[in-house]
Amino acid sequence: SETISKPPLTLLLASPRGFCAGVDRAIQIVELAIEKYGPPVYVRHEIVHNRYVVEELERKGAIFVEELDEVPSGAKVIFSAHGVPKAVPADAQSRELFYLDATCPLVSKVHVEAERLYSRGHEILLIGHAGHPEVIGTMGQLPEGSVRLIETAADAEAFQPQDPEKVAFVTQTTLSVDDTAAIVAILRRRFPAIAGPRKEDICYATTNRQEAVKAIAPLVDAMLVIGAPNSSNSMRLVEVAERAGCRYAALLQRATDIDWAALGSPAIVGLTAGASAPEVLVEEVIDAFRQRFEVTVEESPVRRESVQFKLPRALAG
Ligand code: SF4
Repeated sequence: SETISKPPLTLLLASPRGFCAGVDRAIQIVELAIEKYGPPVYVRHEIVHNRYVVEELERKGAIFVEELDEVPSGAKVIFSAHGVPKAVPADAQSRELFYLDATCPLVSKVHVEAERLYSRGHEILLIGHAGHPEVIGTMGQLPEGSVRLIETAADAEAFQPQDPEKVAFVTQTTLSVDDTAAIVAILRRRFPAIAGPRKEDICYATTNRQEAVKAIAPLVDAMLVIGAPNSSNSMRLVEVAERAGCRYAALLQRATDIDWAALGSPAIVGLTAGASAPEVLVEEVIDAFRQRFEVTVEESPVRRESVQFKLPRALAG
């Protein structure tokens, strides 16, 4: 008969997961700009680090480029949610390009803070990952060479300030909450007068997604994280799961990436998505499980999120 019974499996969905307010706003900016100005609209860098999102926007008329010099004169261009060095809008202005800035307001807040501390004569440390566009953008708010990048606890121990009384720090928004706390503790121990945020600049979405993974990690046989390898907050979710004791934790871009052999025959699988991964990809993964298992989906939010950001004036209303 065709009723071959499938093994039972519980999918425990981490909550909150997926899109944050900054990603939501950035995608809306591209969609509304295409509607208002007509295609094509250029976007400098992946608007958010998710291939599915990028391809959807390409279908609607967005053209993604890495640098402004790939944007033809007279065109409209949008800067990604990660933020850009000051030189980028300046460059756009000098080329008379019309631009919209989709930088997340929580990243802009860090930019403003770095400038404020610098103008008060502090030496600025940025806790973050080298090469990430947000780090390039935040460093690019200040004159070249004036921001010191701190990637690890060892960097925090080794840093030699010009004046230990005039040190300040800011952070990337998508870091590991625990690693960053350890780095900040070292800096505070070495430089008791250090200026900076009360804890760090990690955003609410990053914090909540890590907390949600921690809450379900002890209950699951494996944890799957939907996200891209260049998405900092997604990679941190895999780490959080591993450190919380998950025997198996893996990053997936799509359901086709699921390594069924490595997964073994689990009874309970945890599932989450980084801040740049749309919920449709979570549904795709659930469907893939339904083809092999008799699936029960469970979810119990550790936090409710209601954050929303205003659109740029050119697109509002
Ligand atoms: Fe903004 Fe945080 Fe989302 Fe980044 S992860 S876009 S900082 S809300």
